[in-house]
Amino acid sequence: LSWWRLRAGEAPAKPDSPAPDKIESVAPDDEQQFMRRELARALKARAFEVHYQPIVAAAGGRINGVEALLRWTHPERGAISPATFIPVAEQMGVMDELGEFVLNRALEDAKAWPDIYVSVNLSPLQVRDRKIVDVVRSALASSGVAPSRLVLEITEGVLIDNPQEMLKRIEELRALGVRIALDDFGSGYSSLGYLQRFAFDKLKIDRSFVSALGRSPNAAVIIQAIVALGRALDVTIVVEGVETEEQRVLLRLAGCDEMQGFLFARPAPAATVARLIAPSAAA
Ligand code: C2E
Ligand code: MG
Ligand code: MG
Repeated sequence: LSWWRLRAGEAPAKPDSPAPDKIESVAPDDEQQFMRRELARALKARAFEVHYQPIVAAAGGRINGVEALLRWTHPERGAISPATFIPVAEQMGVMDELGEFVLNRALEDAKAWPDIYVSVNLSPLQVRDRKIVDVVRSALASSGVAPSRLVLEITEGVLIDNPQEMLKRIEELRALGVRIALDDFGSGYSSLGYLQRFAFDKLKIDRSFVSALGRSPNAAVIIQAIVALGRALDVTIVVEGVETEEQRVLLRLAGCDEMQGFLFARPAPAATVARLIAPSAAA
């Protein structure tokens, strides 16, 4: 797929840089305190950014949409993974504030991109809070972005505790005209009952299945089964974490609709996305 990167003016994907947030010498309690203090500071200073990773059509490779991913660069530690700081933000009770920031920023940025959708992650805490429906409604209104261009990603964990209430919430969100994706599908509880009860528009197959392709013979079979399920339920199947050409070919053969991964593009600032989509918009 080197043509893809050449056209995008991007360098080939570099190997993962070492995670700067893993400092073994700090005791967990001190580390917790440090994170809380620094997160509070970063919130005040508005030190967060949103990056975007393209999601491409399995057939043809056109960019259909992007996923918004929260980024925090600490002045001394450098980039800290959202997987590390989001749980802390949740404990601190500031995830709704951060989540609202991501949603508003993503919709603002989306104005500059014709056609493509923007997919925003919602933390379980945000989905459990009834006010999320108003938050999404007013973010859509103030940006003027068509609701059909917004996808909200939720994880299975949110459905467990109070499925009845979540069912209602998801229906209210879909009534705004947005689409709902079930993120990290297969990584957690994965009850098939959820698929029956909740009307999802997209399933995002967890990266762990993709990385197991070629190593475990079961991985391909499971992916095929999920794709068949998706077809029957009329949901779009997205695969995350596509890193190699071999994986891309296998996943395309399996019938996945959309793909996301370092093979196509890494998460990048909005300006980079604008350059990436310009050629496909013209095509
Ligand atoms: P996610 O929603 O499943 O997002 C996909 C993650 O996979 C991103 O990690 C992305 O950089 C990474 N990824 C994409 N392609 C590849 C690949 O080919 N190989 C590998 N190894 N990784 C790939 P990131 O940005 O570190 O985010 C991690 C998680 O943090 C996200 O997983 C999501 O659960 C959470 N997150 C990120 N931004 C937000 C946000 O704004 N709100 C909420 N609630 N959660 C967020
Ligand atoms: Mg996601
Ligand atoms: Mg995911």
